Amino acid sequence: MNHPNVTTPHTKTGSLLLDVRNLVKHYPTRTFWRDSPPVKAVDGISFSLGEGETLGLVGESGCGKSTAAKTLMRLIEPTSGEIFLAGTDIAKLSLHSFRPYRREMQIVFQDPYASLNPRMRACDIVAEPLRNFGWDSKNGSERVADLFHRVGLDPDALRKYPHEFSGGQRQRLGIARALALKPKLIVCDEPVSALDVSIQAQVINLLEDLQTDLGLSYIFVAHDLAVVRHISRRVAVMYLGRIVEIGPVEAIYTDPKHPYTRALLSAVPKIGKSQRPERILLKGDLPNPANPPSGCTFRTRCQQARSECAESSPQLTGNGDQHLVSCHFA
Ligand code: ADP
Repeated sequence: MNHPNVTTPHTKTGSLLLDVRNLVKHYPTRTFWRDSPPVKAVDGISFSLGEGETLGLVGESGCGKSTAAKTLMRLIEPTSGEIFLAGTDIAKLSLHSFRPYRREMQIVFQDPYASLNPRMRACDIVAEPLRNFGWDSKNGSERVADLFHRVGLDPDALRKYPHEFSGGQRQRLGIARALALKPKLIVCDEPVSALDVSIQAQVINLLEDLQTDLGLSYIFVAHDLAVVRHISRRVAVMYLGRIVEIGPVEAIYTDPKHPYTRALLSAVPKIGKSQRPERILLKGDLPNPANPPSGCTFRTRCQQARSECAESSPQLTGNGDQHLVSCHFA
C-alpha cells in the first residue's frame, strides 16, 4: 500500500498532545458474488496537534473529514496507522485498555438533536458519561450544574428534554456533555453547520472561551472556510482521503500552494469586491474513493495537471515542517 503522507507535520505550539501517523480507514465493500475494492475514506494521513491548539480540517463533502475525525477517536476502528495521544499509541490498545483514554477525547456532532437521546432529560444527558466513569450522584449533580453554568445554560433547563431547547442551546448541551469528563481534546465535527449565522458566532465564541479557560485542544471539522479561518491556528486540507496541504492558518489562506486549496478558497464569498481571487472551477465530481486516479489523485480535476502527475504520487513536503503541500508543481 502506498502512503504518501509519511511526514508528520508537527505543531510548534506547547506540548504535543496528538500525533497521528499514516492513519488509514478503508471500508471493505462486497458485491453479491465477489469482493470489490475498498472505499479509501482515509488513506494515510499524518498530523499532530499541540495542547491548547485548534487544527481545522477542511475539504469537500466526501473527502474523508468525518471518517478521519471519528477514526482518530476510535469511534470507527482504523484499518492501520498510529494515533499517539500524549505519547501512547491508542490505535494499538484493546478496547478495555483504551477505555481510560476515551475520557480524554470527546466529540461534538453537527446535529445535536440527532446525537442527544430525546427521551433523556438534559441533566441526565450531561451526567451519563460521569455515571459511566463511576461518579456518585452528589458530585455528579454538582458537576452537571457547574457545566450548565460554564456553557451558558440556565439552571432551569436542567430538567428539560432536548426538543425543548433551541438549536444553539442544544449545541451548548452537547458541549456540556463533551466537557463532563474533563477531556484534553474535543473533536468538533461540523459543530455549527446546522445553526443560524448569529448563533454560530455564539457557539464559536463559547468554544474559544472554553479553550482559553480549560486549555482544550480542538480538531475542528468544517466545510465553511470562513469559520475555520476564525477558529483555527493550523489548517489541514483533505482531498480523497489524504491531506494535500497543511500549515498555519494565515499561510493557507493568504498563500495557498495546492491547486485544490486555491480552488476551495476562490469559492469563499467575500463582502465587497476587494481581495476576491478569480474563481477557480473544479472539473467534474470527486472521484470514487474505491477507485482513485493513479499518481496524484487530484490530477483529474486539476487545471495544471501534466502527464507526469499520473505516474507518481506527490509527497507532502515543504520548507521546514510548518507549511506542507503535496503537489509536483507547488
Ligand atoms: P466527509 O466528512 O468529508 O464528508 P466522509 O468521511 O463522511 O467524508 O466520507 C468519506 C468517504 O467514505 C465517502 O466516499 C463516503 O461515501 C465513504 N464512507 C463513509 N462511511 C462509509 C461506510 N460506513 N461504508 C462505506 N463507505 C463509507
